[in-house]
Amino acid sequence: MKDDCIFCKLANHVFDTNIIYEDDDFTVILDVNPATKGHALILPKEHYADIYEIPEELLGKAAALAKKLVTALAKKLGADGYNIVQNNGETAGQTVFHFHMHLIPRYKDDGQRIGWEPGKPSAEELSELAGELKDLF
Ligand code: AMP
Ligand code: ZN
Repeated sequence: MKDDCIFCKLANHVFDTNIIYEDDDFTVILDVNPATKGHALILPKEHYADIYEIPEELLGKAAALAKKLVTALAKKLGADGYNIVQNNGETAGQTVFHFHMHLIPRYKDDGQRIGWEPGKPSAEELSELAGELKDLF
């Protein structure tokens, strides 16, 4: 646990919160400022700041857990869709620097926007970029 981390404290019962699921690795809580009704956060119990720090195996477990939870929650909440959002870094909108996945149920006409302005690169620009990037892995 990291002393000054709010999500460490919520995930490990130091502070009270609204928990909807818990296992050995994760605590899942309701977001205090939900985008929509039922907006939940998957929090690992151990502290990892972001996707760069979290071990691959635990990240895989988080993804599997997200699938299990949204499958049941969508039915229960009557959601028409789900956004799974995971921000890394301040520029990307991360405000709490303890890895978390947002599970955001979507309802028809809920008035929320989760998206971006589509860019319009040329076919050449895209193909040049792909050429530069594909050798990285
Ligand atoms: P992010 O911007 O991806 O770092 O998301 C942080 C999320 O944590 C936001 O949606 C906040 O509403 C939520 N949040 C911050 N503090 C708390 C808290 N004490 N309990 C529940 N959710 C919180
Ligand atoms: Zn933490």
